[in-house]
Amino acid sequence: MRLHFLLAAFIGCILLPLEALAMTQINSVRLWRAPDNTRLVFDLTGPVEHSVFTLSAPDRIVIDIKKTKLSTELKALTGGNSPITQVRTGNREADELRIVLDITAQVTPKSFTLAPNQQYGHRLVVDLFDILPNNNARPTAATAATAVSKPATTAVTTKPSSLPTSGKRDIVIAIDAGHGGEDPGAIGPKGVREKDIVLKIAQELQRQINTEKGFRAELVRTGDYFIPLRRRTEIARKKGADLFVSIHADAAPRAAAFGASVFALSDSGATSETARWLADSENRSDLIGGAGNVKLDDKDAMLAGVLLDLSMTASLSSSLDVGQKVLSNMGRITPLHKKRVEQAGFMVLKSPDMPSILVETGFISNPNESIKLANRSHQQALARSIHAGIRQFFQQNPPPGSYVAWLRDSGKLAIGPREHVVRSGESVSLLAQRYQISPAQLRSANNLKSDALKIGQILTVPATTLAGQ
Ligand SMILES: [Zn+2]
Repeated sequence: MRLHFLLAAFIGCILLPLEALAMTQINSVRLWRAPDNTRLVFDLTGPVEHSVFTLSAPDRIVIDIKKTKLSTELKALTGGNSPITQVRTGNREADELRIVLDITAQVTPKSFTLAPNQQYGHRLVVDLFDILPNNNARPTAATAATAVSKPATTAVTTKPSSLPTSGKRDIVIAIDAGHGGEDPGAIGPKGVREKDIVLKIAQELQRQINTEKGFRAELVRTGDYFIPLRRRTEIARKKGADLFVSIHADAAPRAAAFGASVFALSDSGATSETARWLADSENRSDLIGGAGNVKLDDKDAMLAGVLLDLSMTASLSSSLDVGQKVLSNMGRITPLHKKRVEQAGFMVLKSPDMPSILVETGFISNPNESIKLANRSHQQALARSIHAGIRQFFQQNPPPGSYVAWLRDSGKLAIGPREHVVRSGESVSLLAQRYQISPAQLRSANNLKSDALKIGQILTVPATTLAGQ
């Protein structure tokens, strides 16, 4: 008897700590608020089984997590702009943790777990999507100029449009600051985070573009939260974007690597994406109802394929053009990693209806460059150079119906000084004709004593007014 009891007590002593060890622990919790959803992230010591459901009157979210115990406070979930007013926890069964969130309004929850990556361990992610009244009709391309939606959580200056009455619309530039929220992007030598730097550059670029009549810039990401890649292009499309510009400052495998680069979609990426869009009816309806110029609803399958292919080819050619202009301008204020636009299969570049570029403003992994990238005046200079490239592209290729097209067609478009790199076979008279200036103007702007040009010579092309022709 006595021996049994001792044995049981002994086994109990061993089993209890073992069971405690087998429990997964929640070590910390983070909350990210986006304009239309809230993301909760629970950091775990191992994988978990869980379930999430809602209760109403009052509105609550219940999160049950098996074989888990809480080793941290949940204060981070309330306060600020969180829709969660109160958090309660308890044990439903001996080893099942229940977390109850009191919330201010109805939401649609979605949850999933994430395996460890370089920055974090096991995580449970709970997304709470706001339920918007009247399904919150978003502006389409046609109404985007009149209905400018403003994210509630930020103080970003969205430029009110003053153009719908004249019928001369703004050219819309969607600026996508990479990463955000749970995804910090690359991290520099002194803990500088890519997601913070690129948001600053994106906001500065938006500010600059919005000072220019005929243009409107829209931020895809307005704060510190994550947006899935496909969703980024959807947001841009819903805002009626004429151009999608993604801003990054990634790390290179070698710390010594430096310089800016610009990417457009690769040809193979474009081909496979065209096939995917054709195969995916949801994508097709997005094009049909969205901002794109591609209308597929009344076309048979083969014609739709040809049209989509043409649209993708045109978008890619515009992407390469605007990308080269941005790259040339960036080259004046920062070293370039590559002198030409590079091509890759990046997800955010895969829109068949929107020219799209990805700008790597520099390598955050390079100690000197990461200091520069964090510097306010360098961020402004980067934004100025990206802006200059975008402006040049649209002055030469204004979308029909835009204010800039009207300026050009009525001979009011002044084009600022540009640079031209002399190529084989070019002469002063040929270049003067191309840029619609006199040979004398070109000679005097460059102090040319003769008409002999060298290949690779950089000429300044003086400002001109382009008459529509
Ligand atoms: Zn990045």
